[in-house]
Amino acid sequence: MPSGLYVHVPFCPRKCPYCDFYSVSALELIPSWLEGLAKEVELEAPAWPEGFDTVYFGGGSPSILSRLDLEGLFAALKPFRITADAEVTLEANPQDVTPDKVEQWHEFGINRISLGVQSFEPRWLNVSLERVHTPADNLTAIVALESRGLRLSLDMIYGHPAQEPEEWVGDLDRAAATGAEHISAYVLTPAPGTPLGRAVAERQLRLPGEQLIAEMFLLTEQAMSIRGFSCYEVSNFARGGAVCRHNLKYWNRTPYLGLGPSAHSFDGRFRRANVASVRRWISQLSAGRLALEFTEEIDEEKARIERIMLGLRLTEGLDADLVKSSRALDGYLRDGYLHQEGGRLKPAPKGLLIADAIARSLI
Ligand code: SF4
Repeated sequence: MPSGLYVHVPFCPRKCPYCDFYSVSALELIPSWLEGLAKEVELEAPAWPEGFDTVYFGGGSPSILSRLDLEGLFAALKPFRITADAEVTLEANPQDVTPDKVEQWHEFGINRISLGVQSFEPRWLNVSLERVHTPADNLTAIVALESRGLRLSLDMIYGHPAQEPEEWVGDLDRAAATGAEHISAYVLTPAPGTPLGRAVAERQLRLPGEQLIAEMFLLTEQAMSIRGFSCYEVSNFARGGAVCRHNLKYWNRTPYLGLGPSAHSFDGRFRRANVASVRRWISQLSAGRLALEFTEEIDEEKARIERIMLGLRLTEGLDADLVKSSRALDGYLRDGYLHQEGGRLKPAPKGLLIADAIARSLI
């Protein structure tokens, strides 16, 4: 199966308080980042001769790139073979989506947009998440993307302070009422080192407890399925089979190459990560070498563990032979967290909720 290509666009004009993705606000570094990408492609191209059938521009905020930046970006990727039917996704912030930008994305062959709407309710969108775009921006962006025929995925976040389960379902309903073919629903997580993480640790802010989050998680699956979306991964839902082919490569352990600061790669044997610093990444590439933070060889046992950890996140599950029989496994099967079907172990919705804990007890 062809590999996936990820390009990290590490620029955001301003940092959201809950975000722990690597990005900087020094937009003046974009031209040097483009030069770095061209060098990184030159060094990587010989190792990826079969090319890619998915491309994902993530970030950061890829939607801030100008036409000139996009020209530089696609020129940098030229040495790679990208199949004619490739799924090409770009992450966009609603406030960046203008008719002009939509036209440019279409022109450059981007055919899928992952739109960070996050919520349609000002209380969550602008107070809890402190995002600068408004619910009206969400709708304007969606109309502009749909009218150009771009495939649309919406990112949504739940688990805000004092949010009730029915309020979350109402928010989700508004997402499902658009023409989006795909919805990702994530729990607001107080990642250490972020302003949100500090506020929660210092008890200035209280997020819903485990019980309430579990209730919202299970309601998400039910509400999505009523609206024609099937869950295929813990946080991802698609209608009409429109799964994200690129992200499936991560969960299925298909090789992918990550370009840009902090990007990760997997070639089937080694996992590696680039340094999470634009300046260090540029300076190492300028010296003619890849800017790697770490490389790890995945031996057979590690591969087995990965297959269990990742497989339990998917409704497709995993090959049952990967898991040794144990009392823990019997318990999960008996209590309906997992079921066995055609040689595969598949998680039920309540199994997806605790997928990581199940995986840890089965490896
Ligand atoms: S726009 Fe996205 S990547 Fe940038 S800081 Fe906000 S959440 Fe993080």
